[in-house]
Amino acid sequence: MSDASAMPALFIGHGSPTNAFEQNDTTRAWAAIARRFPKPKAILCISAHWETKGVLITAAERQRTIHDFYNFPAPMYEFTYPAPGDPALAQRIEAMLAPYARADLDGWGLDHGAWGVLAHMYPAADIPVVMVSQDIRRPLAEHYAIGKLLAALRAEGILILGSGNIVHNLRQFVRGAREPYDWALRFNTWVKEKVAAGDHAALIDYLRFGEDAALAVPEPEHYRPLVYVLAAQQPGEAAEILTDSVTSALSMTSVAVGLPHDGS
Ligand code: ZN
Repeated sequence: MSDASAMPALFIGHGSPTNAFEQNDTTRAWAAIARRFPKPKAILCISAHWETKGVLITAAERQRTIHDFYNFPAPMYEFTYPAPGDPALAQRIEAMLAPYARADLDGWGLDHGAWGVLAHMYPAADIPVVMVSQDIRRPLAEHYAIGKLLAALRAEGILILGSGNIVHNLRQFVRGAREPYDWALRFNTWVKEKVAAGDHAALIDYLRFGEDAALAVPEPEHYRPLVYVLAAQQPGEAAEILTDSVTSALSMTSVAVGLPHDGS
């Protein structure tokens, strides 16, 4: 990267909300990723767990921790991730995405797609976070176009973080099963190949991959954040696969663009 303060864009496969509280290979990898580049000035997060009509941007100075999951142990509902907001950045993003986006002062906060990952990457919670929602009315190509507009923020020291899962089918998911479904493995492999080839068009039009894609992505909300991260990829930048595992009907595969090489 030419600018020392330029930030990568990361897609993190977040999986179960319990990951926020666990030390395992995947969550240790999340912490390690954060040590490979300088501390960001702010984080722009697109989470699987914030879908709206129209594009909304969290703009509050203080934001609540949202516990958007059910039937988990009580202590998980008491966790807070008190990262500040960044109203000025929210306003700028609103202007960048005009006239499609608007600031959201108190409707949302940090959902577990955001804090579940950030609790490992930045446990001090001292970096401002701005959330940008997924507009459910738009086709994936338009989410990609929005991602292209947001990409310019990387050069200003703002980390773009997409949080979702490439394969996410909870109806088919078997808790405790280690073996992945064949279709889950095939779709995860196909995505990695297309990411490596820089074939964003194929990844936007993923349903063409057929039955495997329909099973792996029964609803698009966990897949879309990947598209935002790919949209932030600049010419000549490689994409790197970070964590990579598939169990049952869930993949924890993560993708980075613009990440400095390991050890640099
Ligand atoms: Zn999720």
